[in-house]
Amino acid sequence: MSAAIRHFIAGQPTRGSGPRTAPVYNPATGEQTGAVALASREDVDAAVASARAAFPAWAATPPLRRARILNRFLRLLEGRIDALAAIITAEHGKVLSDAKGEIQRGAEVVEFATGIPQLLKGEVTENVGTRVDSHALRQPLGVVAGITPFNFPVMMPMWMFPVALACGNCFILKPSERDPSAALLLAAWLTEAGLPDGVFQVVQGDKEAVDALLHHPDIQAVSFVGSTPIARYIYATAASTGKRAQALGGAKNHMIVMPDADLDQAVDALMGAAYGSAGERCMAVSVAVPVGERTADALVERLIPKVRALKVGPGTDPEAEMGPLVTRQHRDRVVGYIDQGVREGAELLVDGRGLRLQGYADGFFVGGSLFDRVTPEMTIYREEIFGPVLAVTRAPDYATAARLINAHEFGNGTAIFTRDGDAAREFAHQIQVGMVGINVPIPVPMAFHSFGGWKASLFGDHHMHGPEGVRFYTRLKTITTRWPTGIRAGADFVMPTMS
Ligand code: NAD
Repeated sequence: MSAAIRHFIAGQPTRGSGPRTAPVYNPATGEQTGAVALASREDVDAAVASARAAFPAWAATPPLRRARILNRFLRLLEGRIDALAAIITAEHGKVLSDAKGEIQRGAEVVEFATGIPQLLKGEVTENVGTRVDSHALRQPLGVVAGITPFNFPVMMPMWMFPVALACGNCFILKPSERDPSAALLLAAWLTEAGLPDGVFQVVQGDKEAVDALLHHPDIQAVSFVGSTPIARYIYATAASTGKRAQALGGAKNHMIVMPDADLDQAVDALMGAAYGSAGERCMAVSVAVPVGERTADALVERLIPKVRALKVGPGTDPEAEMGPLVTRQHRDRVVGYIDQGVREGAELLVDGRGLRLQGYADGFFVGGSLFDRVTPEMTIYREEIFGPVLAVTRAPDYATAARLINAHEFGNGTAIFTRDGDAAREFAHQIQVGMVGINVPIPVPMAFHSFGGWKASLFGDHHMHGPEGVRFYTRLKTITTRWPTGIRAGADFVMPTMS
């Protein structure tokens, strides 16, 4: 049975006016389970009009009351985590425990956002001049939009909307059309928690909906997470229409393994970081860089049996460590990259291409795959594969390893495994990457810090959530005040110097 997946506009689920739909699949079985409505420009206009109407009252609602609504939403979310995780697994394919993990990390941003009365406190200076005071405060932007990728259908929206709403904005979410249902539950639960209609809405769709948002004069800011070519497009288009934009793109995260590292620890870290969520994470480690031939040989020798033993299965199987890829096209693309790696001369040590699971012959599965002797010219080194494929690129020394990372187009995350504090400190200081792990393979910042990469992994000047999120979703106003005694002194025609 194929469900009709709708928008959520003005406090109601709606089919919208756009005639187009896109199929949604269960990646474990390959069956189409739904058809998602794709918004027309008119649908986007309707959502923006509803958000505009809701904005003045929401912006005027005291931050503490806004925080209380988010608190109620958090409690609803915590009580219903199983239902939400089941929807993520049904449309994305990741294993249920991983789906719950993503909800947990998203919920932490809501927890952060409930501290908004504290976060919005401004700055005051008494006597910037004689009997003149200044205070600076942050106000919401208005109607803002978020456009999110398929790989975290709950966590990515939750990197954005809790902070945007807490700051007093109205938020329109355009989820990925590949796993669109989870967003509708979030919208319904926000309404149940007391959020006024129009403050949070979901517009399903593809490029047509995105372009309508980007060109809409009443949208003030756009947050985006997805692939680098689209991130670049979003950033450039939003800037050309005068909007604030933060656009997070793709990644190719390297993990250096130094000769003095605890190798067993490094191998375990690599297994989770490379193959968790079938490698469909922007913080997945896709390149291991062992330093020295002995380290490389030992690392590869330990990795091979573990990659072969990976338990691949439907996300609902509690034994499975890794589920299928999101769509048939994406599975074929990942297999194409493995073919290309072989053609370009990399050594394929574990080949996940032929994996067939009993009872799931039409699922979009690829087994864990491992390449050795991958060099920087190869396509599988340069491009993001976004699948369960780990490349080992050997480096003779630390300096070469660090140069590889700094020369790469992407700069999202990176890690070093070592027992040498000096090497670790040097790495943290000079590496050209936004998020760095020292013996931590996936250094995703907690909600009260901010998430963002460098280079082609982020376009814009604000990272997401945490203090950077508050800055992105507010604008600064600085007020200078002088009361009558000063005014009676008469007009002043020179540049004020506050002397
Ligand atoms: P994607 O770029 O294909 O899609 C992301 C969003 O953009 C979706 O909502 C989609 O509908 C929309 N979109 C797609 N094509 C468009 C077009 N031509 N014009 C306008 N909008 C368009 O990305 P994806 O495949 O859903 O997600 C995987 C990518 O996201 C990977 O590259 C991954 O690294 C990246 N990602 C990055 C981060 C990060 O924090 N940097 C986090 C998660 C995912």
